[in-house]
Amino acid sequence: MAKKKMTAKQMQSLIHFLIFINATLIVAIIVLAVLLVKARHGGKNKGKEAFSYTQASGDYIVCIDAGHGGDDVGAEGLDGSYEKDDNLRLALLVEKNLKKSGVTVVMTRSDDSSTELSSRSQIANDSGADLFVSLHRNSTESINEVNGVEVWIHSSGSDRSYAIANEILSKLENVGVSQNRGVRIGTQESGDSNYAVIRETEMTSLILEMGFMTSQTDLDLFNENLEAYANAISNAIVNWLNQNQN
Ligand SMILES: [Zn+2]
Repeated sequence: MAKKKMTAKQMQSLIHFLIFINATLIVAIIVLAVLLVKARHGGKNKGKEAFSYTQASGDYIVCIDAGHGGDDVGAEGLDGSYEKDDNLRLALLVEKNLKKSGVTVVMTRSDDSSTELSSRSQIANDSGADLFVSLHRNSTESINEVNGVEVWIHSSGSDRSYAIANEILSKLENVGVSQNRGVRIGTQESGDSNYAVIRETEMTSLILEMGFMTSQTDLDLFNENLEAYANAISNAIVNWLNQNQN
């Protein structure tokens, strides 16, 4: 077979073509790199919202109680998680935030230890806390049928108790909850009786039920919004302290 030799003109066209392909590839790579960096930054900013911390206008003490602990695991989640762990995760974040707001925080537990109910109220009373907040998560027998957050307060239903309960629920709603189940007085059984930690504490006290562990929606919301929920709770507490303790 006879080989055809390239003319000078054909050679020049080929070189031009190759240069064009190279330049196009380089531009494409640069554009891709810029898009990738932008996407990464966007993702980062979305996950790390800038939280603000309301500053306390006085010397306040708040007792945070992470419900259950140790052998007492509390409710069990559909995903096998334990209420005691969720309560502690949230409690530690609320503690950190309150400290940033200039509030003194007393914890009934800071690790996976078991603490008697009577010890929890004793710790709160001994500390002279202005407020006692017990963190829990709910559960029911039916799966994925009931969801939402609620707050339990003393059966006397004082204005101060309602004020802090509503402040927390409204701030949680701003973050996003499956349902606001509202403020409840007394216990599930009776509006005249009280849960031990509320009954035995001498200051304004409440139990915050952070969604149902038997609801996948609530489990997902809790994990996705943990930091935002902690920020909502701590700012609600500081707002209430600033308005009610002076
Ligand atoms: Zn509980």
